[in-house]
Amino acid sequence: MVTLEELQVRTLGECTYDSPLADYVAARSTNAYYVAETDRVLIDDTISLLQARGGIPLDEVPSFEPGGPRRKLFFDPKKTKVGIVTCGGLCPGLNDVIRAIVLELFEHYGVTDITGFKNGYAGLVPGKSPDPITLTPSFVETITDRGGTVLGSSRGGQSVPQIVDNLVHREIDILFVIGGDGSMRGAHAIAEEALERNLPIAVVGVPKTIDNDIPLIGTSFGFQTAYAKAAESIKGARVEVEAAIGGVGVVKVMGRAAGFIACYAALANHDADFVLIPEVPFNLQGENGLLATLRKRVKERGSAVIVLAEGAGQDLIPASRRTDASGNTVLGDFAGFLRAQIARDFKDHDEPLTLRYFDPGYMIRSVPADPADSVYCTRLAQAAVHAAMAGRTDMVIGRPRHRFAHVPISVVVKNTQNVNPDGDLWLSVLESTAQPFDMS
Ligand code: ATP
Ligand code: MG
Repeated sequence: MVTLEELQVRTLGECTYDSPLADYVAARSTNAYYVAETDRVLIDDTISLLQARGGIPLDEVPSFEPGGPRRKLFFDPKKTKVGIVTCGGLCPGLNDVIRAIVLELFEHYGVTDITGFKNGYAGLVPGKSPDPITLTPSFVETITDRGGTVLGSSRGGQSVPQIVDNLVHREIDILFVIGGDGSMRGAHAIAEEALERNLPIAVVGVPKTIDNDIPLIGTSFGFQTAYAKAAESIKGARVEVEAAIGGVGVVKVMGRAAGFIACYAALANHDADFVLIPEVPFNLQGENGLLATLRKRVKERGSAVIVLAEGAGQDLIPASRRTDASGNTVLGDFAGFLRAQIARDFKDHDEPLTLRYFDPGYMIRSVPADPADSVYCTRLAQAAVHAAMAGRTDMVIGRPRHRFAHVPISVVVKNTQNVNPDGDLWLSVLESTAQPFDMS
C-alpha cells in the first residue's frame, strides 16, 4: 500500500512569480480557481477504507497533492522554454494533449517557446531523429482531427545523459512527456539526472495507456474511445455469428496485463457470451472448461461471441521469449491457439461450427479521441501545465477519484492497475455474459 511519504511531489524551489492567470481570477473572488496548497485529495473514498487505516489522523492518511492553477509560479512565463515528446504505442487523444499543452502555455501563461521533439526519446538525442519542430497555436489548431501523434513516437532505449545535455543545450525549462509506463520510467530517469546535476528542469508526464493499466491515475485518457471502437467489432461479430450455423466469434482486443478494454467493450452492448482476461485464469479442457461451456452455449443459443484480451490465456501456451525494442515481452498467439482448439473440439464432438475471427487491434488505438476523451485530454494537459509552471517535477497528472492530482512517477511505475476478480466490474461482466464464475 502506498504511503503519504511516497506521494510527496518534488518541487524545484520556491514559487516567486505571480501567475498571469491573476487577471482571470481577479474578476472572481480572491480564492476562486486557485488550488489551496494545503488541501489534499484522499486515496480512500469509502468510510471502511479510511477505518481500515486504524484511526490515523487525517493529515497522515495517504493523499495526493491537488492539481490546478497556483497563485505563484516557479518559472517566469516570459522566459520559459518548453519541450514536448510522445513515446510508446499510439493511443486516442495524444494530439489532444499536445494541442491543449500548447494552447494553455500560449494563451494563458504567455509561454511561446515550445519545441516538439520528434519520434519519442530518439528525438531528444541530436542526430537520431528528424529535427524538432516549433509548436504554435496555429500548428496545433486542427491536429485533433486525426488520431496518432503529430510528433511521432518510437521505442528503444536512449542515453539519458545525452537527453539532458540536449535539454541544457536548448535551454529547455520544462519537458512534458506523454507516454506509457516505459516513457514514465524514462521521464523519471531524466528528472533524476537533472536533479543530480542540480538543474532546475521540470519533467511532467501525462500518462498514456490504452489498456488503462497505470495505477493511481484514475481512468487513462483514450481508454473510453478505445473500448467504444472495440465494442463496434464485438457488435459486428454478433451479427456475423447469428447469421451462421454454429456461429462462434472470437474478438481479440488490447489488454496485455489488464482486461479493462475487454470488460468495458463487452458491457457496452451485451453482445458477448464470454470475456477472457489476464486477471482471471481459465482452462480450455474439462467439464467446466471453456470449450465444453462454449459448445453448450452454442447449442442453447445458436451462436456465441468470445471477447479475448490479448494477454489472456498466456499460461496455456508456451512462454514467448521475444521482446520488442524497449524490452517488453511480445505475447504468444493465444488467439490462434484458441481458434484451433475450438475447431478441433467442435469437430471431435461432431458439432457444426462457423468460426469467425476479429482483430480490431491497431484500429482501436489509431482513431481520434471521442468528445469525452478530448475534454479529458484538454483538462489533463491544462493541469500538467499548471503543475510544471509551479515547479513540480518527476510527477504525472492523474485523476484519481475524479480529482486532478499530482502523482510522483516512482509510485505509478511500481505496480499495474488490474481488473479485480472480486470487484464490481468483473461481477458486471459475469452478470452480462452469464459465463460461469469459474472456468479454471
Ligand atoms: P506503451 O507500452 O503503452 O506503448 P511505453 O511508454 O511503456 O508505452 P516503451 O516502448 O516501453 O513504451 O517505452 C517508451 C520509451 O521509454 C522507450 O524509448 C524506452 O526505451 C524508454 N524507457 C523505458 N524505460 C526506461 C528507463 N528505465 N530509462 C530510460 N528510458 C526508458
Ligand atoms: Mg509499456
